[in-house]
Amino acid sequence: MEGSGGAPIERRCRWCRFPLAEHAGPGRPRQFCSQACRQWDWVSRQRARELALSDGELVMARTELDALHDDLYVLECAVADTLKDLSSEMSAKEAIDALRWLLDAATPLANRRLRSA
Ligand SMILES: [Zn+2]
Repeated sequence: MEGSGGAPIERRCRWCRFPLAEHAGPGRPRQFCSQACRQWDWVSRQRARELALSDGELVMARTELDALHDDLYVLECAVADTLKDLSSEMSAKEAIDALRWLLDAATPLANRRLRSA
């Protein structure tokens, strides 16, 4: 574990934000985790140019945004439930159940990659 002082800034894929492995050796550091991500980034830049979007703007499929909001809502409920549970005495089994529910709610977000198509 790196201390807070000189921890390197973690590099992430420019498209999907997946953490990139530490770059070793000569050459430019990688910007993408895969060829597919490099391609989608390029396509999105072309589209942005066509639509005269600025670099910080993005067009996103509504279904994708809705799915993200749904996952966030489930996580929000799980966090609220877990906070409530923690404020009272819990048995070990109840604590494990609460943790499971929280993990069930968090896992889809942890595994989420925005689809590119
Ligand atoms: Zn990527």
